[in-house]
Amino acid sequence: MNALAATNRNFRLAARLLGLDSKLEKSLLIPFREIKVECTIPKDDGSLASYVGFRVQHDNARGPMKGGIRYHPEVDPDEVNALAQLMTWKTAVADLPYGGAKGGIGCNPRDLSISELERLTRVFTQKIHDLIGIQRDVPAPDMGTNAQTMAWILDEYSKFHGHSPAVVTGKPIDLGGSLGREAATGLGVVFATEALLAEYGKSITDTKFALQGFGNVGSWAAKFIHEKGGKLVAVSDITGAVKNPNGIDIPALLKHREITGTLKDFQGADFMDPNDLLVHECDVLVPCALGGVLNKENATDIKAKFIVEGANHPTDPEADEILSKKGVVILPDIYANSGGVTVSYFEWNIQGFMWEEEEVNFELKKYMTKAFHEIKAMCKLHDCNLRMGAFSLGVNRVARATLLRGWGA
Ligand code: GLU
Repeated sequence: MNALAATNRNFRLAARLLGLDSKLEKSLLIPFREIKVECTIPKDDGSLASYVGFRVQHDNARGPMKGGIRYHPEVDPDEVNALAQLMTWKTAVADLPYGGAKGGIGCNPRDLSISELERLTRVFTQKIHDLIGIQRDVPAPDMGTNAQTMAWILDEYSKFHGHSPAVVTGKPIDLGGSLGREAATGLGVVFATEALLAEYGKSITDTKFALQGFGNVGSWAAKFIHEKGGKLVAVSDITGAVKNPNGIDIPALLKHREITGTLKDFQGADFMDPNDLLVHECDVLVPCALGGVLNKENATDIKAKFIVEGANHPTDPEADEILSKKGVVILPDIYANSGGVTVSYFEWNIQGFMWEEEEVNFELKKYMTKAFHEIKAMCKLHDCNLRMGAFSLGVNRVARATLLRGWGA
């Protein structure tokens, strides 16, 4: 099942739990606006290269639409649509005054030089600048993009609209970004994990984790898990996977990767087949890479008792069913990885007034803990699992805002 079909399915199940009117259900599902643009740039060698960029603005009932922009070869319209919709439910679960959006360019950022990436980002911004905006749609980093990408968008957008730092979040500190934003998704994953484990009388200390993806989300999550005494027994990125039953020294692995660009030849762990990571022996599995990695091919073999979805839609519905029968508890993406957009909100809301990092992290923990208990309350009310608890919480909030605003005459 592709990402969009899976996301739509989860939405429909939640709509049914809530008893939503079928017309309202349909209107919540259809995106507000879908943008597709051609972006052609001269490469450094003078040849031309064309890319397709997308921005899907899913819903704005609760506030300006919000979501990342990803640069990845697998970016396609259905995937961006699914991710935009997930942002709508995610911002509502976190109770942020935002709607949902997502963008992307189908490219491999590793194959582009810095100046090519800058040109591509500026061309994309020129094509969409009239449709985004501080009170309209506020992009942020995602896979393959970072604070520098946001700085280029800010600069290009400001040429048309005047200086507008709040048109993006996740921007560099020097341009009004927030302390703690870079680490926020990973830290939020860890706060979410703590809230979940506490329900079972457990904590991160001495718990065994297998973590897939050592990018922005995964590397920060791993660092914080390690600091809190958790054991990372297996870690992977696109260059491979490593394992150590006694726990991997994460700061040493991060240093090794920084120097060599790969996880290979790391002395403190054994190399393993990355395909085995998801079925590795552990207590908590933390997928922090691409969507759809947990599916009917591997779900039966998963050993973890808990899955914390650092990535967006890592579990497809078939795997969801198999895992639930096995009694595996899944903390869903729209809650587990909401730390990034939550700190984006702090950055956007207090634009020009910097919080201390401790304050950012303290507030982030408050938001993550509150949302967890609200999801649990929905689970109790509807007698459902955490995914449906989170979906019904988010969908209900968006439905209420939509009904209150009405459709106009
Ligand atoms: N790209 C992140 C996400 O998927 C952050 C979005 C944002 O900060 O707007 O949640």
